[in-house]
Amino acid sequence: MSEAVKVDHVRLYIPGPTEVRRDILEEQARWMIGHRGADFEALYASVQGKLRQLFYTNSRVLVSTSSGTGLWEGASRNCVRDDRRVLHLVNGSFSERWADVSQRNGKQVDVLDVDWGKAHKPEQLAEALQKQAYDAVAIVLNETSTGVKNPLEAMVEVIRQYPDTLILVDAVSILGGYKIDFDGLGLDVLLTSTQKAMGLPPGLAYAAVSDRALERAKQVPYRGYYFDFIELDKMGQKNNTPATPNISLLYATDKQLDYMLAEGLEARFARHERMAHMTRAWALGAGFQLFSEEGYHSPTVTTVDNVRNVDVKAMNKFLKARGMTLSDGYGKLKGRTFRIAHMGDLMPDHMQELFDALDAFLKGA
Ligand SMILES: *Cc1c(COP(=O)(O)O)cnc(C)c1O
Repeated sequence: MSEAVKVDHVRLYIPGPTEVRRDILEEQARWMIGHRGADFEALYASVQGKLRQLFYTNSRVLVSTSSGTGLWEGASRNCVRDDRRVLHLVNGSFSERWADVSQRNGKQVDVLDVDWGKAHKPEQLAEALQKQAYDAVAIVLNETSTGVKNPLEAMVEVIRQYPDTLILVDAVSILGGYKIDFDGLGLDVLLTSTQKAMGLPPGLAYAAVSDRALERAKQVPYRGYYFDFIELDKMGQKNNTPATPNISLLYATDKQLDYMLAEGLEARFARHERMAHMTRAWALGAGFQLFSEEGYHSPTVTTVDNVRNVDVKAMNKFLKARGMTLSDGYGKLKGRTFRIAHMGDLMPDHMQELFDALDAFLKGA
């Protein structure tokens, strides 16, 4: 095995934070501006227009200076009344945690569980909705721990039969890599963070929010303060935010959205699908299995079932010396799986470079 070369940049194949282009990082080094002035309003308006294209909505995309977790709290608080219930669809670590967030905000939570690695199916959801009325159903579209993409379209069809039930969707590790038509599907909250498939540093979260969701929020007297959707929307209409936002990251978002729109959203989604396909083919070809259920593989992250029992730590050490890193399994799946992200600004050539290095490691392992 050749002596490891020193590298000053380790390319991230982890499902967040993801790779960020050098010039996007540098956008954050612009001079500060006041957030109560015309320059900021122009920046906000520019970002807002482009975000609406990315979220496929004509309504509004709220801007939160927090990570995605903050908007979990916001969605749970604003969309579920105290004397009603919320149904959380759980099939991995992140969906489990969102249910916990609702509970800790004093909401009455029911959980619909399926085995980790499996996707939620519309039939079970239909059954659950027949038994109990819900203010909202909370769905994690892309379970970053298991590499499963839930069948959102089919589930939306089921929930739509209950006009009082809002549809809350966490798209944190997928929005920007997969088409989610907010208006077309009739979603109520669609939230993401900057540091995953959008290919930006961490520090902001965005959520498309429907009129219905805002109407619901008005019926919740204690929505908290920082994540109050009505307050965020009210200021958003004036191209502003209630509290001081992460201005630097808004500059970076503005420019990154230019890149995304220049690539073309459809082309971008196709690139993600292609990289996902390459990754699955590599994993199977190298004698591993896929942890995610057939037919429900994520376009942005692959959770590899480590049936060869390779030492993930040693593998990552080998990669790191070559300027790359991937992710161990998440939570209870650590060691049993490892995860390869193929999202944001990673390109098919980058994926091939990773597979070549992994093959070299496995030859010596
Ligand atoms: C990363 C992740 C989160 C948490 O987002 P933060 O921005 O870290 O708060 C939530 N949901 C999913 C699916 C994720 O992948």
